[in-house]
Amino acid sequence: MGAWDGPGAEPGAVAPPIYQTSLFTKPSFAEFVRQQAAEHENFVYSRGTNPTVAFLEERLALLEGGEAAKCFASGMGAISAVLAGLLRGGDHVLFVNSVYGPTTELAQHLERFGVEHTVLTDPAADAEEHIRENTALIYVESPGTMLMKVVDIRELTAVARRRGIRTVMDNTWSTPLFQKPLAAGVDLVVHSLTKYIGGHSDVIGGAVIGSRDVLRELFYQGHQLFGAVMSAMEASLVLRGLRTLPVRMEQHQRNALSVLDHLRAHPEVVAVHHPYVDHGPDEDVITSQFSGFSGLLSFELREGTFARVSRFIDALSLFRIGPSWGGYESLVTSPVRSDDPVSSPWPGLIRLSVGLEGAQSQLEDLDRAFASLAADGVHTPRTLLPERTP
Ligand SMILES: *Cc1c(COP(=O)(O)O)cnc(C)c1O
Repeated sequence: MGAWDGPGAEPGAVAPPIYQTSLFTKPSFAEFVRQQAAEHENFVYSRGTNPTVAFLEERLALLEGGEAAKCFASGMGAISAVLAGLLRGGDHVLFVNSVYGPTTELAQHLERFGVEHTVLTDPAADAEEHIRENTALIYVESPGTMLMKVVDIRELTAVARRRGIRTVMDNTWSTPLFQKPLAAGVDLVVHSLTKYIGGHSDVIGGAVIGSRDVLRELFYQGHQLFGAVMSAMEASLVLRGLRTLPVRMEQHQRNALSVLDHLRAHPEVVAVHHPYVDHGPDEDVITSQFSGFSGLLSFELREGTFARVSRFIDALSLFRIGPSWGGYESLVTSPVRSDDPVSSPWPGLIRLSVGLEGAQSQLEDLDRAFASLAADGVHTPRTLLPERTP
């Protein structure tokens, strides 16, 4: 599918044109009928294909080493197309590692359509023991995005292949630059383009990458019917992000490693979670699976009560409070909601998205927050402080 041969495309434009059109007219009715019969490979209607979006899809497929890709309106749009589009009532899905919360909530929702699932949060658990007669899909996220635990992908895909089970992997944390799941035997890769790939915190998007055959099935069963379509405008923003992905990822990595070394050495920190420092059971798995590390990490504060976690977070100013990650701005959040171990199973856990500001400013910001834990006096909620912009 060529994105550039449409009439009116001016040769030489360095940025891809935004095809802001909902439909494509054809020179004859016969031609229209011919193209509509294979809508996945012809530009007919932008809920199906659009040249700007197709251009991005080609690039993503190349980066992941897949034959084809499809973009979606969000990461969840991509994930729901995969789960709801490719599964049927009576099927079972095995989730490996602690996967993105809404993904397992979606699995819960699919129970009402007769799709069963098991969540295996321990990445080192024996997945094969949990495979059932009706297991149709193994869905893995590695690293996870709260404790950053890593799964041995080659081992998992070997089991899945032996049993004839399709595998899907969420590769958002690593981006296609730092980890290549398809080369390790995974059938389908999903991404939230909202994070590093978009990279500027100004676009929501998702993608699925894999073989031409599965992508075709997904196009008709998951994309066309559910309609979580990426617009040409969003695609152009993601393409803009892709251009700087290698330099951004290198800088995210450099900043994250300095933050990790700093955290590891700090007396207020009892654990640090990131594949660079927490190798899990097998260091060889890390070295063979990753060619680099991104900047999303978490750590555990000593005596991690809600009050201390709040005090630490509120004392940060360069790290801003918010969900999501992968953009320029450093961000902080925490799953801690109370001091009740049932509702907050990870006391003291704080997650940082290490952004692209100077590493020195990031370390100084963290040090101010650590210092605030020791300081006496009234805790000033950050909402009362003036906003700072980078
Ligand atoms: C954010 C995220 C998603 C969902 O992506 P959206 O674009 O927010 O829908 C899926 N998986 C992971 C690991 C994520 O971080």
